Amino acid sequence: MFIKYGPLQFSGYHRVLVSGINNGHTIQFSSEGEEAIHPVVTGGPLKYLYRLEQLHFHWLSEHSINGVKFPMELHFVHVRSDLSVVEALGKRDGLAIISVFGNVQAEIDDFEPHVTEIMEYIPHLMNTGDRVSGVILDMTKLFSPNKESYYTYSGSLTSPECNEAVIWIIFDEPVYLTDAQYRQFGKIGVGRHNFRSLQKIKHHLVFTPGETRIHMPQIAVFFGDVIKLFREFFRKIGTFMSNGIKSR
Ligand SMILES: [Zn+2]
Repeated sequence: MFIKYGPLQFSGYHRVLVSGINNGHTIQFSSEGEEAIHPVVTGGPLKYLYRLEQLHFHWLSEHSINGVKFPMELHFVHVRSDLSVVEALGKRDGLAIISVFGNVQAEIDDFEPHVTEIMEYIPHLMNTGDRVSGVILDMTKLFSPNKESYYTYSGSLTSPECNEAVIWIIFDEPVYLTDAQYRQFGKIGVGRHNFRSLQKIKHHLVFTPGETRIHMPQIAVFFGDVIKLFREFFRKIGTFMSNGIKSR
């Protein structure tokens, strides 16, 4: 396996119009406005163009690298730009999720945490149902500093029976936040955990681009309670819809 489509190419992530919501499970920022102005990514393992639908957080990461979890994981959820969300869910390559780990670093001189801009909105999203809208974010600050080094595999959002609709791109270099910023997430009312219990799935083929060092990460993918995941799956679709992202 190799990365067929050259380097990843991002466009439109510098100024992204979003609305934020605490949906009771996570903090999510969804693209607002016409689909034509949503940021898009292509290249790497992606044959098509994918438009950004939403960004959400998990505190404790869902994936692990070499068995080690990170304090946080950001998921940038993209839909193939020639498809509606519903159509995309039925295709093997309908969704692309870019994952960035968040690590915590003590506040020291000249340490600039990556997440500062988005953190301004977190205090307004502490309780389920809280919303902010008309927010403009520079999402490039939330990307891993090294966008050339990532793992990628095809996986599913939900159960093994489900159509495998997601191309995962998992950057291995984290972004950083401060202790105080991380503690703020701990106070958010979304239940005790918003990551799923993980189980390693051995048959996923994981590969890294180009000449980056070859080591097999223990990419863990959630498995767990299928029923619960199904519910979450459909709730996610519901969230897409209720946020005005229309199917065509
Ligand atoms: Zn997620």
